[in-house]
Amino acid sequence: MDRYVKVKSDANPYDPAYESYFDKRLQWRMSESIAGRAKLSRLWKKQEGRCAECAERMTSETGWHIHHVIWRTFGGTDDQSNLQLLHPTCHVQLHARGWRV
Ligand SMILES: [Zn+2]
Repeated sequence: MDRYVKVKSDANPYDPAYESYFDKRLQWRMSESIAGRAKLSRLWKKQEGRCAECAERMTSETGWHIHHVIWRTFGGTDDQSNLQLLHPTCHVQLHARGWRV
């Protein structure tokens, strides 16, 4: 039991619990740079402004999140081919379901 607590308290970049932190950090970083914003706008156009999870439109009211298709904590990259835009609610649900192979 002691051991379990110890492992949990270590900052482990491969712990799936950190996945939403990586998503948030990337989203923030991309919105801060011109290249990042261009990448976001290409993603948006590719998905025609629709959520990759439920296919409904993302608007300024719904908002959107960046998601790593292959989770960052499982070795996924920040490459455009590994990124999706999702509704914040769909994103939370997807992470709650955990990693699917
Ligand atoms: Zn959605």
